[in-house]
Amino acid sequence: MSRPRRIQMSRRTAWRVHHPHAVRVDRATRWGNPYSVAEYGSRAAAVETYRRALLAGELPGVAGWPPVAIETVRRELAGRDLACRCPPDQPCYAEVLIDVATSPVGTADPAALAAQLQQAIADLDGNIERRAGELAAPIVARDRHHARAELDTIRVELQRRDDLVAELRRQLDVQLRQVARLRWVARYLPPALRGLVLPEPAIPGAWAGDRPDAEFVALVDETAGGAGLVAYPDRPMRAASGQPTAATSGRHSGR
Ligand SMILES: [Zn+2]
Repeated sequence: MSRPRRIQMSRRTAWRVHHPHAVRVDRATRWGNPYSVAEYGSRAAAVETYRRALLAGELPGVAGWPPVAIETVRRELAGRDLACRCPPDQPCYAEVLIDVATSPVGTADPAALAAQLQQAIADLDGNIERRAGELAAPIVARDRHHARAELDTIRVELQRRDDLVAELRRQLDVQLRQVARLRWVARYLPPALRGLVLPEPAIPGAWAGDRPDAEFVALVDETAGGAGLVAYPDRPMRAASGQPTAATSGRHSGR
C-alpha cells in the first residue's frame, strides 16, 4: 500500500469526484488544527504545535468534537487520503495525520518496526537534501517567499526526523531488553533445553546458549511479539543448507 496523499479541496475543482474515498480533515471537521497561523506566526509553526500536541495526547477538541487521540487517528485515517484546503506545497497538519496514521508504532515485531523507522528516516533525509539543494540555487527576489516557506518546511522535517530517531532508539531498546530477557530465561532452562538457537530473523547477539550441540532448539515465539520462548525438541541445530545458522555461531560473536 502506498503512502496516503493529501488532496487539496477547492470549490473550483471536482476534487470529490476524483477522490471519492478521501477523508475531509479541514477546520470544519474534528481533525481541524486548533492552532492558527495568525496565532503561531507561520504555517510551519502551527503545524508543529499540532504535531506536538497530538503526540503528547494534548490536542484539544475542535468544532464541538471530543479531542482527537493518536489511536483515533490510526483507527479512522489509516490508509486514507486526506483532504484539506491548504496548497499541496505548503506545510499542513494533514501531513501530521498521515504520519501518525501510517506510523508503525504499536506493531508487534520490533525488528520490522526498526526497519520501517529507518526507511522513514532515509526518506526524510532524501526530502531534506532535495529541498536544501533547491535552496542552494541563487534566490531571486520573487522567490524569496517560496524560499522562506521551504526553509520552514525543512525545519519541520528536521524536527520530524528527530522524533523518528528518538522512536527508533526506543524500539532498539525494546529489542535489547528482549535479548536480555532471553538470556535470563536461558539461564534458568533445564540443562537439556540449553543451547538455544534463535531462528531467522535472529536478533544479532541474541544467541543465548552454551551448548551448540544440544538436541533442542528454542524459538522466539513471534506471535507473542517475541516475548515468548518455545522449545522444539529434536529440531536440527543446523539450517537446511547444512551451514550453521547465524545464531549457532553466536558463541564466537561479540558482534
Ligand atoms: Zn491543510
